[in-house]
Amino acid sequence: MLARVRARIARRRRESVFDRPAGGRPARAGATRGPPAASLRAMDDPATVPTALAQAGPRTLAVTWADGHQSAYDVRALRLACACAHCIDEWTGAPQLEPARVPEDVRPVRIQSVGRYAIQIAWSDGHESGIYPFRRLRALCPCPACRAAASADGPA
Ligand SMILES: [Zn+2]
Ligand SMILES: [Zn+2]
Repeated sequence: MLARVRARIARRRRESVFDRPAGGRPARAGATRGPPAASLRAMDDPATVPTALAQAGPRTLAVTWADGHQSAYDVRALRLACACAHCIDEWTGAPQLEPARVPEDVRPVRIQSVGRYAIQIAWSDGHESGIYPFRRLRALCPCPACRAAASADGPA
């Protein structure tokens, strides 16, 4: 009987990360309506949980992370970083995407969340199969602090 109740709880709609209030810090359990912080599992490293995502200019996508970090991505750089099977050879890992064929003014036309782990971006050049896991997105953060940390860790 207890097991059945647990199963029902687990089946509840999972909250999209985009529904969380911007800048929401891991709150005390029960401090806010709904399950958010309390239901974060151990695998949800705040460094890889976006709390807000916004177009911050024609060429910039801004992401705020649960650990308070803010990333500002050049949207074309994100497009070029696409790791889908069309852009990266699945077997060899060789880039299949020619940067010269990506328009200078490429921009996201639609951004959707994929489960609790990634976003999918549809681009103005018609490409829409690219999925950016949060972990990878965070690793792509172009700010000097993250670049320094990435080079200290070696290539991603
Ligand atoms: Zn791609
Ligand atoms: Zn950063």
